[in-house]
Amino acid sequence: MATINELQLAKELIKFPTVTPVDAGIMKFLEKKLKTLGFKTKVLEFREKDSKPVKNIYARLGNKGPNFCYAGHLDVVPAGNLKDWTVNPFKPSVKKGYLIGRGANDMKSSIAAFVSAVSNFVANKRYFNGSISLLITGDEEGVAINGTKKVVEFLKKKKEKIDFCLVGEPTNPNKLGEMIKIGRRGSMTGRLSIIGIQGHVAYPNRANNPSTALVQILKELKEIKFDNGTKDFQPTNLEITKINIDNFADNVIPGLANAKFNIRFNNKHSSNSIKKKINKIIKNISKKK
Ligand SMILES: [Zn+2]
Repeated sequence: MATINELQLAKELIKFPTVTPVDAGIMKFLEKKLKTLGFKTKVLEFREKDSKPVKNIYARLGNKGPNFCYAGHLDVVPAGNLKDWTVNPFKPSVKKGYLIGRGANDMKSSIAAFVSAVSNFVANKRYFNGSISLLITGDEEGVAINGTKKVVEFLKKKKEKIDFCLVGEPTNPNKLGEMIKIGRRGSMTGRLSIIGIQGHVAYPNRANNPSTALVQILKELKEIKFDNGTKDFQPTNLEITKINIDNFADNVIPGLANAKFNIRFNNKHSSNSIKKKINKIIKNISKKK
């Protein structure tokens, strides 16, 4: 049996304009490829109300355990202004040894590499005592509610077990193979609203300016030293992502101040321990104000 060329397949995948969560026929295309390799496939469509339907695929070669699973996504982020591109993002081309096109990096090439690797494995008759599976979603770059999460729930119900998983997200800044991650840091977004008392700037004693507390809280949050990182993960870090005080007059003390921040945390913390730490700071400062 002929093996599947990785570059060729990557190009074919890039041609599908799968701007999240649009499928554009790509799951059917992938399903066909996997079937020729002997996979048993299932295209799973999920839809939550107020969201667009999303197609995912789960495919398995073999029925014994352990089950080694390649995981990834075939949706891409919007291509932005087409005039800013030197090529059509959905007409892949190779320039100076680089494949150019939307999703070439994140992560259609990885899916092509998965499929090509399995085709080599099968063509060389390297039978082994286990299974190879693929869990590919079309909902990673967007709200990501009808993707991997739902497929995993489905598999759990079917008592389908995955023993090992390799995610093909691009993690190598310079050279292929320089970085392999064993997981991903947690992400938590905080929304902070300080309610004060609106007033005239000339009579501050009759008002309570929420921006004072907001600035102080954000400063203290930013100064938290969470940890120094671990062997496998970068230090936990907080970034303020938005500050907003709606005020159209120069002489008015606003009544409301809002901010948003995001924390990427490593395995030294849980979302609960972070929440506790942050709440303590917020409570302390807002009590004084
Ligand atoms: Zn990705």
